[in-house]
Amino acid sequence: MKRAIVTGAGGFIGGHLVVFLKKQGYYVKGVDLKLPEFSRSGADDFVVGDLRDPALVESLFEGGIDEVYQLAADMGGAGYLFTGDNDADVMHNSALINLNVLKSSVNHGVKRVFYSSSACVYPEYNQMDSDNPNCVEESVYPAQPDSEYGWEKLFSERLYFSFMRNYSIDVKVARFHNIFGPQGTYDGGKEKVPAALARKVAMTADGGEIEVWGDGEQTRSFLFIDDCVQAVYQLMQSDFSGPVNIGSEELVSINQLAKICMSVAGKKLTIRHVDGPQGVRGRNSDNRLIEEKLNWTPKVSLEEGIKRTYEWINAAINATR
Ligand code: NAD
Repeated sequence: MKRAIVTGAGGFIGGHLVVFLKKQGYYVKGVDLKLPEFSRSGADDFVVGDLRDPALVESLFEGGIDEVYQLAADMGGAGYLFTGDNDADVMHNSALINLNVLKSSVNHGVKRVFYSSSACVYPEYNQMDSDNPNCVEESVYPAQPDSEYGWEKLFSERLYFSFMRNYSIDVKVARFHNIFGPQGTYDGGKEKVPAALARKVAMTADGGEIEVWGDGEQTRSFLFIDDCVQAVYQLMQSDFSGPVNIGSEELVSINQLAKICMSVAGKKLTIRHVDGPQGVRGRNSDNRLIEEKLNWTPKVSLEEGIKRTYEWINAAINATR
């Protein structure tokens, strides 16, 4: 039985990945500052602890570990990452986590480490046109991410590949593009746009009004969580290291996304555009590399993914009313 650590197992993607790995027959140790918010962890063992603490990280590897999936980060949606208010914490906390997890993985002879980078590494100058963003993997240099979160991700990508070159550890790096689905944060300030819109639609009576940040014409693509964990697993099993995009190529504006939410909810609402952090003007996954290397394409359409997400958020909100 393969033994894996999932760091960030109390978070959205980490929580889903634990369940996926258990289905593949793994022994899974989850680690996070907190337990999963919305369900019991599927992990065999769950350590509540701070990955910024090197002693805590060292202690995780007792008993032997084959694979590490590093998903922990100080992170949130645009309202958390793009205001500038959390830059110091985001860089400091996430860099410490990566430094500690990687060093201990080498110390304990781990064979493979997965690192979750982000589409936020791509340069701002290639994402000014909402219809034609360029996010092909090699376009990342000359570097100019639009946030400190993106800079830390880029630094850590380089850190992981340095360890692969200098120590005998196999590294896999993926750049996630807006992963969404049930059991993700939907309020409190760290939620991302699909969950925020689904919450607003769920909480607004038919005929009412919801707010969208900016003019809503900024574009993004969104990947459903089940497709994401499948891609992570395929990357980890392959002899390809990346960095590689894991995302969808179904590009929509935020206004269109809001309309999809309304349609699955069966509500007609008006959109009011208000000032707010927006990030780059356009961003889309370029999936040519992942198709070529892993023969992976997303299976769940945006509309189907939003439907499943909306239904879960709507039920969660109704349960607390
Ligand atoms: P998340 O915030 O739900 O999960 C991250 C988890 O890390 C949280 O549960 C948090 O408590 C934990 N964590 C933070 N600091 C920690 C510490 N010091 N010690 C232990 N645990 C700590 O985020 P997510 O959406 O599940 O993202 C997982 C990874 O994927 C992150 O690295 C994120 O940057 C990356 N990513 C996500 C997306 C996306 O759309 N969700 C996009 C690009 C990249």
